[in-house]
Amino acid sequence: MIKHISHIGIAVSNLEEGIAFYEKLGLTLEAIEEVPSQKVKVAFFPCGDTRIEVLAPTDPESPIAKFIEKKGEGIQHIAFAVDELPAALKEMEDKDIRLIDKEPRPGAHGADIAFLHPKSTNGVLIELCKEKH
Ligand code: ZN
Repeated sequence: MIKHISHIGIAVSNLEEGIAFYEKLGLTLEAIEEVPSQKVKVAFFPCGDTRIEVLAPTDPESPIAKFIEKKGEGIQHIAFAVDELPAALKEMEDKDIRLIDKEPRPGAHGADIAFLHPKSTNGVLIELCKEKH
């Protein structure tokens, strides 16, 4: 059901600085998008089948702001691309994996996303993502 790693979400406090670093690394900025529901701005850097998504909070109440406050900047989540999101969520639930999102919700890049609970995943925030290509 899982196809590949869709993206790796990296939390930064300052988007411009985060972008500058990945450009220095040699990746090319594809787009910047604001996701109001998550109170974040996202910068996308394609890297093969995967993207690096640099996430910066737009509000102190943003989940990303809270993450940085607790753990500091760094890898925030890993997203796996799936063929069919509702079916994948059902499958995870059947395997006793706790879900944060029981229903898909809109994420960046026109994708439908849902998160698994880190308590069920050895502490990794895992996102399942139905990409729109
Ligand atoms: Zn994501």
